[in-house]
Amino acid sequence: MWLDRVFSSVAGVIDQDLILPVLYRFGWMAWEELSFDWALVCVYGMFAVLVTYAVCWPLEAAFPVERWASRKAVAVDVLYTILNRVGVVPIVSFLLFYQLQVVCSGALIDHGFIPPDIELLIPALFGHPVITFIIYALILDFADYWRHRLSHSFRIWYALHALHHAQRQMSFWSDDRNHLLDDLISYVWFFAIGLAIGIPPLQFPLLILLLKFMESFSHANIKLSFGPVGDRLLISPMFHRLHHGIKAAGRRSCNYGAVFPYWDMMFGTADFSNEYLPTGDNRAPEALATGGYFAQQWAGAKLFLAALGRPKRA
Ligand SMILES: [Zn+2]
Ligand SMILES: [Zn+2]
Repeated sequence: MWLDRVFSSVAGVIDQDLILPVLYRFGWMAWEELSFDWALVCVYGMFAVLVTYAVCWPLEAAFPVERWASRKAVAVDVLYTILNRVGVVPIVSFLLFYQLQVVCSGALIDHGFIPPDIELLIPALFGHPVITFIIYALILDFADYWRHRLSHSFRIWYALHALHHAQRQMSFWSDDRNHLLDDLISYVWFFAIGLAIGIPPLQFPLLILLLKFMESFSHANIKLSFGPVGDRLLISPMFHRLHHGIKAAGRRSCNYGAVFPYWDMMFGTADFSNEYLPTGDNRAPEALATGGYFAQQWAGAKLFLAALGRPKRA
């Protein structure tokens, strides 16, 4: 496919001109074998950001829920997105995941076990890579529902997650605005699941980027639902906005799902109200809402340390 060839040639340039010189300079030649694939994941990350922008920006411009006089508070979310999708996702979800998988599989084989693989568990999946990929996505999304729901259940964990909720100008850039510690927990969570079901190393970052594309879309400032049936198949901007809505008295937390609403429907946390609430967290310090990157990270760390002293349920 021509797009594949474009990705490969851009990755080739990044590999030759940026990554390999650094590896040779510092004597890290052991990584040489992986450097092209790593560059390729960076290119996928850039492409994911471009596609997200191309799809979401025109819709936000045409059908906004809110119109803002200044978009200053959105700028930091752009930084979060680019850092995460082009920098962190390739390093963490490819290089680290690959290393972990090699170590874990080696240890299991040494002890006479077969490394986990969903195709061994469900032999009918052999030869059906697309269905296997969709099942991986469903399992990761299910795990993410519980990670997110638990992050709202414990005061210390919500102290980190508050950074995500503090944004009053929520847009398609807002998905990645998270505290670094919260990101770390997410990756450990995803790694554990990815290793347990044997996701191949190059598919793991692709899955993360695909799920994240859907998550960006659901954060977008777009007046859009997929209708009574569509909203029950895939999470829409209206559905996720209800999760971010400022909580009025008597309103319970809802809609923890990231991509598929099935888990919210299954566990009684779904709310399909036809409403577009203002977003934000009234209790969060102002630095979390409108501070720069480091001010937000620092304010999040302070909230976390304060909550450590009184670790009750949120
Ligand atoms: Zn949340
Ligand atoms: Zn969100």
